[in-house]
Amino acid sequence: MEVKEESGKTVERGNSGDSSGAGRADLHLHTTHSDGTLTPEELVRKAHEAGLTTIAITDHDNVAALDEAVEIGNAIGVEVLSGLELSVTLGEKDIHLLAYLFDHKNLQLLEYLTFFRRERLKRAERIVEKLNKINVPLELDAVLGQAGVGSVGRPHIANAMVELGVIGSYHEAFSKYIGVGGPAYEKKYQVSPQEAIQMVSKAGGLTFLAHPGKYTTDAEILELINAGLDGIEVVHPSHDEQRRKFYRNVVEQYFLLESGGSDYHGGKKNDSYAFGTFWVPLTVVDAMRKRLFS
Ligand code: AMP
Ligand code: FE
Ligand code: FE
Ligand code: ZN
Repeated sequence: MEVKEESGKTVERGNSGDSSGAGRADLHLHTTHSDGTLTPEELVRKAHEAGLTTIAITDHDNVAALDEAVEIGNAIGVEVLSGLELSVTLGEKDIHLLAYLFDHKNLQLLEYLTFFRRERLKRAERIVEKLNKINVPLELDAVLGQAGVGSVGRPHIANAMVELGVIGSYHEAFSKYIGVGGPAYEKKYQVSPQEAIQMVSKAGGLTFLAHPGKYTTDAEILELINAGLDGIEVVHPSHDEQRRKFYRNVVEQYFLLESGGSDYHGGKKNDSYAFGTFWVPLTVVDAMRKRLFS
């Protein structure tokens, strides 16, 4: 059931849910605190203009956008939920999880995130060293310049390589150098799904499998469900209607929750769809709260 990412192509607009004005939630968004290009304030304002009533910012290993986003959201009428995107290891694969509705001041969670960001930095150093060894003259400072205050990741390395002119495109960086199996590929720090799910749960939140249509097999989904997953991201630009139906069935069959959003990064990474067109109805958020609080 592996499906290639549809490179941001708008597959379907919206969601099968309520479009009567009862509220729209985009629960997968990135800011400058990870690999997005908009600041929290810019993103919240953009969400408001696009008619979204609720958002979750899901920066990789970072919750630093939340306080600012909540403040702007309160001022202009956008509800901002706590969110995160985490990477876990399953076999040889790096799988992305989304966390919601946790206490973003939970000390243990914050310690984990600081640790993950340090490990990201060390990995970026190792990738740069590998690139230098194969005569790509990239400097770590150029990568850090791309990352700014955000958690450093391969997207920043790809952008720095484009800027340096050693490759023609963002995607070429992955296909030629830093993608899985590439000559400068480096693994991330290895965290098990169980460990990540427990960490989120201890902070009072729920954990979802992100964009399974990109590269997660049925067997892996089952393994993650057994590890304690709370739900699956059903609406995502890489899922066509058939995929959505499939994941919604899995959600129902295993008494899970669903989530959804655009995985918007600010236009740099094939976010060519119209912002505001990947959303879930507020009943989805209500169901999450119900699971946590009743
Ligand atoms: P990192 O968290 O540093 O491993 O970076 C992962 C991010 O890089 C993902 O969220 C994707 O946005 C991007 N990415 C991973 N693989 C590819 C690829 N083959 N082509 C383009 N972008 C990719
Ligand atoms: Fe990302
Ligand atoms: Fe992801
Ligand atoms: Zn994402």
